[in-house]
Amino acid sequence: MSLIVTGTIGIDTVHTPDGSSEGVLGGSCAYFAAASSHYTPTRLVGVVGDDWPDAHREMLSSFPGIDLSGLEVRRGSSTFRWGGRYFDNMNDRETLFTELGVLEEHPPAVPTEFTDSKFVFLGNTHPAVQLGMLEQLPDRKLAVADTMDLWINIANEDLLQLLQAVDGLVLNDSEASMLTGERNTITAARRLLDLGPTFVVVKKGEHGCVLVHKDAQNVRVLPAFPVEANGVVDPTGAGDSFAGGMMGHLASHDRFDIDILQEAIAWGTVTASCTLGSFGLDGLRNVDRDSLQAKMDQFQQAAWVGPRATAS
Ligand code: AMP
Repeated sequence: MSLIVTGTIGIDTVHTPDGSSEGVLGGSCAYFAAASSHYTPTRLVGVVGDDWPDAHREMLSSFPGIDLSGLEVRRGSSTFRWGGRYFDNMNDRETLFTELGVLEEHPPAVPTEFTDSKFVFLGNTHPAVQLGMLEQLPDRKLAVADTMDLWINIANEDLLQLLQAVDGLVLNDSEASMLTGERNTITAARRLLDLGPTFVVVKKGEHGCVLVHKDAQNVRVLPAFPVEANGVVDPTGAGDSFAGGMMGHLASHDRFDIDILQEAIAWGTVTASCTLGSFGLDGLRNVDRDSLQAKMDQFQQAAWVGPRATAS
């Protein structure tokens, strides 16, 4: 089933306690597409300026499953740039700068040959742009969005409108609390369901994730993939990679009931772990279906609680 993504393509500068990387390819839809393309062909809709480095195009093009015909290079405009610094725990970070550049102009158009897309992911960008993309995809079966603190702060009204139009929402625990005022993850997720989506996935960094669904009584939870300190070089894009693995799995099965969603967040977890070990998209480029499957086998073993756990 056709999967389409929009979001940012960024030029990132990332500082961690152990090192820095300047001018690396990033952005929500770059990470997402790199991840999802391991599961299903992925159509990318995005815009960059004419300062976009050739090396970044080569990197994105090295993922055979990404269709870049919806990537616009706009003359005279500047590519979105983002800088961040991670704290010692490598889970929390501060944004050092956000230069919206071309994102402040009109959004990229969805190419006609993409308008029949069935699975839609609205990666982090202005919620009005996310809404505009949805309107161009009348055949969609499943639309899922991500958001973050900047958009919660500066575009809250648009975001609330977006929530009424999507089927699913994927976000961090701090963002879920910020949007709802609830500190408890499950309570916050249930409040978000009241705002529109049918399901919500709340990511909790190294503490895993939680899935709540309107049609299912029970909450589904997963731990994170176990990674030791020396395996975490740069967590940037882990959230987008999670979403890419999740949506790639759903689109390749053409289903989105609670059970496949739980499987999908497990693939998201495994895929996100591939991003942690290096700056930029290198980690996702260096995996394939076999190595992802091997990681999934390892994850299943690590999280195993038996066929039916009993107290005696
Ligand atoms: P993640 O670590 O999954 O939250 O994704 C980080 C990526 O999102 C970086 O590569 C940034 O270029 C991009 N990014 C940072 N801030 C924003 C924003 N406000 N909107 C969209 N993308 C952003």
